Amino acid sequence: TFDMLVIGAGPAGSAAAIYAARKGIKTGVLAERLGGQVMDTMAIENFISVPYTEGPKLVAAAEMHMREYDIDIMTGQKAKRIERKEDGLILITLENEVTLKSKSVVLATGARWRLMNVPGEDEYRNRGVAFCPHCDGPLFKNKPIAVIGGGNSGIEAAIDLAGIALHVTVLEFSDTLRADKVLQDKVASLSNVTIIKSAQTTEVLGDGNKVTGLNYTDRLTNQSHHLALDGIFVQIGLLPNTEWLKGDIELNKMGEIITNNHQATSIPGVFAAGDATDVPYKQIIISMGEGAKASLGAFDYLIRNS
Ligand code: FAD
Repeated sequence: TFDMLVIGAGPAGSAAAIYAARKGIKTGVLAERLGGQVMDTMAIENFISVPYTEGPKLVAAAEMHMREYDIDIMTGQKAKRIERKEDGLILITLENEVTLKSKSVVLATGARWRLMNVPGEDEYRNRGVAFCPHCDGPLFKNKPIAVIGGGNSGIEAAIDLAGIALHVTVLEFSDTLRADKVLQDKVASLSNVTIIKSAQTTEVLGDGNKVTGLNYTDRLTNQSHHLALDGIFVQIGLLPNTEWLKGDIELNKMGEIITNNHQATSIPGVFAAGDATDVPYKQIIISMGEGAKASLGAFDYLIRNS
């Protein structure tokens, strides 16, 4: 039986595990893949005090930091069920039917970006195809870019990027923008943003090295068009990895785990942190801070309940 079992080993899970182990309690980490989304990131320039690093490097450093402590790290394993037993222990069932028991749990299963699923998107990921305006916006200073998606995150991204990029084209699939009116008004006032509705992106184009543009179909006329671009920000949704928790723990309508300001969830003894939760702004530094908070919240729970 663990004192604290952390599910997920991205920034949130690593921070939670280190904070737990430093309390001298029996700590375990269970993760499908060490590092999470950071493994898919190339340049990282907003991790404060480290002006430049790369995803795999940051992951290796976090792993080394975890291995400084007595933490039972289990990778290549996926959790599929969480239950709280009458004796207060939390039972985690893995996809291979193995069960793990812990007095407290920190959920840090992160999220994944919804993809367009068009040719070129995967090939040019991190080479012009981007997902995070706060992270990669500055790479496109004075360059023409596109934002895919006209919901709140797409329009927020367009407003944000318009201050950096030369020009921003927003491509929205439907015939209306779904963003809040204040955001629509704001974006309409910007001279270097063009909005194209009823536009279905069909292909990301590149020169073998980086993005050079995209093709889209006008869904009203069925005509194909080309845009020359240096960058494409895909903003069609961030999906939390919480499908396995549905029905057992309180999630919001986006599927994010609802937490309070101690990172507690609707199950006593279960805390959560990072991109899987309803925390606003999904970033490495924020996930690490939230992971530390969740771990301290869980430790406080342990002091009071065992
Ligand atoms: P994740 O990093 O998503 O980690 C989730 C962990 O949970 C993984 O270990 C995963 O394997 C595991 N897991 C998931 N489901 C299960 C399960 N059922 N059972 C067991 N384990 C499970 N942020 C920045 O601050 N700066 C950047 O420059 C930056 N660039 C980015 C570039 C890209 C391409 C992407 C995709 C993201 C970028 N981000 C950046 C965002 C940042 O990576 C995330 O905010 C951060 O990784 C979230 O951390 P997390 O620990 O909450 O989740």
